Amino acid sequence: MGSMFIELKIDIDRCRAGQPCRACIESCPVDIFVATDGLAAVVADNQDECTLCDLCLQRCPTEAVTLTKLY
Ligand code: SF4
Ligand code: SF4
Repeated sequence: MGSMFIELKIDIDRCRAGQPCRACIESCPVDIFVATDGLAAVVADNQDECTLCDLCLQRCPTEAVTLTKLY
């Protein structure tokens, strides 16, 4: 199932430019990000657990993460 309320995306080129980095993976309190092939990826089924804490947005060095409210 996809997300109903929150959509998170990672711009892979920006994420690549920020490596080495695990900032979003380590800062998200609800495990929305995982490491895949050395880059960050979104666990689609977890997106609606997002608390809107903004840590991923603040800590990403390349502004690779975007968060969209779908409601
Ligand atoms: S805003 Fe917070 S809870 Fe939501 S994905 Fe980013 S770090 Fe995780
Ligand atoms: S914080 Fe940004 S650069 Fe770092 S792993 Fe996450 S998306 Fe990639």
